[in-house]
Amino acid sequence: MNRIREDIEALGKIGKDNRGGNSRPALTYQDLEARKHVVDIMKDAGLRVLVDKGANIIGIREGKLKEPFVSTGSHIDTVMNGGMFDGVLGVMGGLETIRQMNEERIKTDFPLALIVFTDEEGNSFMPFAGSKFFTGEINEEELGKLRGKYEDISFRDTFKRFIEKVEGKVELIDRFPFKVKTHMELHVEQGPILDAKKIQIGVVNGIVGVERLWINFLGKQSHAGSTPMNMRADPLIPASETVLKVRQTVGEFNEMVGTVGFLEVSPNVVNVISGKVRLGIDIRSLSEKDMEDATTKIMKGAENSSLMEGVRMETERLVEKPVPCSPKVIGEIKSSAEELGYSYLIMPSRAIHDTQVMASITDVGMIFVPSKDGISHAPQEWTDWEDCDRGQRVLKLALLKELQNK
Ligand SMILES: [Zn+2]
Repeated sequence: MNRIREDIEALGKIGKDNRGGNSRPALTYQDLEARKHVVDIMKDAGLRVLVDKGANIIGIREGKLKEPFVSTGSHIDTVMNGGMFDGVLGVMGGLETIRQMNEERIKTDFPLALIVFTDEEGNSFMPFAGSKFFTGEINEEELGKLRGKYEDISFRDTFKRFIEKVEGKVELIDRFPFKVKTHMELHVEQGPILDAKKIQIGVVNGIVGVERLWINFLGKQSHAGSTPMNMRADPLIPASETVLKVRQTVGEFNEMVGTVGFLEVSPNVVNVISGKVRLGIDIRSLSEKDMEDATTKIMKGAENSSLMEGVRMETERLVEKPVPCSPKVIGEIKSSAEELGYSYLIMPSRAIHDTQVMASITDVGMIFVPSKDGISHAPQEWTDWEDCDRGQRVLKLALLKELQNK
């Protein structure tokens, strides 16, 4: 079956960047071209195509019942000079599934919605603009006022442009009015694990939470020569110990990652004892409790080191909670991979996806396929066509389990 390949390659020609990748930030002219293409192929597959006020494109395949819906989908917007598979695979995998269901004359109890979410990458207006509108987290007015990052235009005006482009092909709605019972997303892993382990399918058990911990260490700026060692309050000392403490602490928890990617030394002069050091820590885990415990431990360590050195400490925390996938959907995806004879790994997603927003209104699940060398958001992003097909087959089987009323 080469249709997914044809579809992905066709979209990859729209918004082609001369640096080799794709540049289609949401609702730019390049993205509008891609959106028109997707509306056309959705219509070719016999779908009713709705567009809501969040500019989400929603293709409907009817079921015997009016609702609740099962939904699938992803995004077609890209980062600047990004890859050809990120998001697009989920849309084309869903579309291919619908085509096959049509050819096999499969009638389902529940209707299916194939959704293309707006601005997943957040490069144009805001991350998850479309899925946040879909779930009701933001309203039309908040969305309409947002201004573009590449072009000084409001969301409202670029939305009008989009509608002109697909005039007569789509039905306009305010917000999707039906209940959604399950949402599933097929996506490339965007990390190296499946490729390195030579595993065909990733069964995602949740999307990791992120803890951002900022610490200011405040010491006493003074002369590097004339200040005796026992009379110093050097903030770089507890800061350095904290960098190592992060590495050590993260290792004590299961599947946690932690990074100190930000370190600012003031005044950053070779013959001056620093007066202030600012440190930014990023910790990710599927377990909210583990994240909390690790953060407490790191802060305790930083406090002890600061006390020893006579340094003051200020902290700020920004926490985004982990989003678990539904055990039922995880089970359906896992058994689908088993029935197809594919190797699989149950794993968290360390990148963010529309699915985590959808989790506020419905049960969710995600299917990953390998990314060559783990590269994504780059022109080199690659997933073998056989892997794209395998992902689509798992998606189809798992969707079918949800689409019939048992
Ligand atoms: Zn994506």
